[in-house]
Formats: sequence, structure tokens, C-alpha cells
Amino acid sequence: MRIVILGAGGFIGSHLVEHLLCDDRTRVLALDVTDEKLESIPRDKYVLHQADVRHTPEILDSVVSEADVVVDLIAYANPSIYVTSPIKVFELNFMQNLRVAEACMKHRKRLIQYSSAEVYGKADRGQLYSEETTDLVHGPVNKQRWIYASAKMLLERVLYAHGEAGDLDCTIVRPFNFVGSRFDYLVPAGSMGGPRVFAHFMSALLTGGPMYLVDGGSVHRAFMHISDANAAFQVFLDRPEETRNEIFNVGNPDNNVTIREAASLMIDLFEELTGNSPTSEITEVSGEEFYGRGYEDADRLPPDISKMRRLGWAPKRDIRTTFRDAMRYYLDRAGLLAVSSPALSHEVVGLGAKGT
Ligand code: UDP
Repeated sequence: MRIVILGAGGFIGSHLVEHLLCDDRTRVLALDVTDEKLESIPRDKYVLHQADVRHTPEILDSVVSEADVVVDLIAYANPSIYVTSPIKVFELNFMQNLRVAEACMKHRKRLIQYSSAEVYGKADRGQLYSEETTDLVHGPVNKQRWIYASAKMLLERVLYAHGEAGDLDCTIVRPFNFVGSRFDYLVPAGSMGGPRVFAHFMSALLTGGPMYLVDGGSVHRAFMHISDANAAFQVFLDRPEETRNEIFNVGNPDNNVTIREAASLMIDLFEELTGNSPTSEITEVSGEEFYGRGYEDADRLPPDISKMRRLGWAPKRDIRTTFRDAMRYYLDRAGLLAVSSPALSHEVVGLGAKGT
């Protein structure tokens, strides 16, 4: 099977490439502007097009025409960008993704489209977020943070409509805060905005800088191990009939914590993995100070994953294992791992961790 991964150089994409290459029968065609996160994967195992699809529509058309399945991960996905560059977010996360879907329709190719848990926005009915019943509630237009959620939601609606009309074979995935190695990017001590929370806290622990807790860190996120995410992807790949024109939450409802709890857990794990106490201190800041004007947050509820459970998938790694495995990667690279620190939770096979 030939699988095209658009946005292969990102966090989720690089893990999918690694996961897919564990099966010798799979041919991976990767496309991204950057290959930094793919460096540990032997280049002779897959084909890489280093290109920006926004400026090279002919490359997009050609790779899609060669594929059996197209996986679209192209997106800006850091809240700081939503408020500083909202037009760019719309252009890439809606317009460009629509062009990908159009190429899939033209060549009659199956599309697996990554959307976001963020589409639920501020939905809050005291129940888990369900793909079938939960309203999608976004903040006012002057809170520009919501352009990301709105772009993703509109994309879902357009793709779904094409699916219903019989023009497009598509599965839509809503990831809930995946965490693992090669997550976003590290930042210097004291930086604000920029990457998502795990990368910020990890950077702070490595540099000794402050761990900024935005607006008291009282909101919740359900974090999930990237290996569980790979296993969910395998379900979509293996079961096209049951997942056609369906939307799936992919997350771990049991790993639901406040951001303050996530910070404490990472401090605790730093001590466990290095044998030393971190010098970073938790420092409270406001959302506008940290991200800029137009920031608004969501107290996100955990996902209802009953649709995925019916397909036989369930996440396996608890929150401690999830954060420990991801932190281990960074502490190892920094030479800070204690010799006696616990090993990775999953077997490392060949090219990387097997996603089961
Ligand atoms: N956050 C924080 N400190 C940081 C970075 C983020 O307290 O250094 C908060 C952020 O305000 C939000 C939560 O962590 O409440 C999750 O943010 P993230 O950027 O990971 O992405 P989201 O889940 O909102 O897309």
C-alpha cells in the first residue's frame, strides 16, 4: 500500500512515518517543508518531498495521484499563532486543506484528515465530548484564538458534505492532546507564546527557567501517548469501510488533568528520571500576557471514545507513563537521565516504538 503523509515532518507525522515503516509492505511518501523530526528515520526507507504545498500545487497533485491513501496533517497548531497570525491559520488550515481534499476527489483517493479536539471549543454540558451529539461552541470573533477551531470545523463540514454526496472517501480524526518525543519545539528560558504546554514545561525543566501557569492552570486537558495515537491510526487504515465519512475522537479520557496537575507531575517525573530536583519554579501569568490579545481558553472536557472502542481500539498508557516516556526522550538527549531511571513503557522495535 502506498501512503502519502502530508505534514510528515511534524510531531504526529514523524511518528506515523516511523510506525508505518514497521510494515515492509507499506510504501511511505512523505511531504513537508522540514525534515528535522524525520532525521532519525533512515532515508532509504521512504521517499521525502521537501516542499511547501502552498507554492507547489503540481507536487501535491502528483503525490496524491500516486497514493492509495492520503493522510493530511498539514496545519498550524499552536494557540500563539491563532492570535498573532489568524489569516495564515485560515489559509493553511482551511484553504490549503480544502485543496488537498479536492486533489483526493480528482484522483478518487481515500483521505484521512486530521482535525482537532479544539472544534468542540467551549462546549460544556458536563458530559464527555461526543462526535455525534456535542454542540461545537466557539468564542466571539474578537477572540481570535477561535479562528483555528472555526477553520477546522468548517473543513470538517465541507469534507463531510462531499462524503455524503458521494464525491469523497474520507475519515476525520479529532486528536486530543497527543504527547511524545519530538513534540513541537523547545524554547529558551522565560519564553512566552510559542509551542504547546508540554514543550513549554519541558523547556523550563531543562533550562531551569520558569514554568508558566496560564490563568492559574485550572483548565483540563486529556493527554494521550503518541503510541496509542499510532494504534488508532492503524484502525483507520485497516478498516476503510467502517470509518468512511465518519468522525472519530482519539484521546484518553482517563488521562484528564488540570494544567497545574500536569506541571506537578512533570516536576515529580523530573526528579524520578534524573535523581535531582528541578530549579524551575511555577510562575502564574495571564493568558493575554502569555499569548497576546485575543487569547481565550477552553476548559476542555475529555473525549467520549465509544465509537473507537466499538472498532476495538482503546488507549493503553496512563498519564504518568505518557509523560514519563516523552520526558525520557528529552532528558536522555540532554544527558540528564539517571542510570537507574525506568525504561520506556513500550518495546522499541527496529525503526522505533511499535504503535500497539
Ligand atoms: N499553558 C500553560 N503554560 C504554558 C503553555 C500553555 O499554562 O507554558 C496552558 C494553556 O493556556 C492552556 C493549556 O496549557 O490552558 C493547554 O495549552 P496548549 O498550548 O498545550 O494547547 P491546547 O490544548 O489549548 O490546544
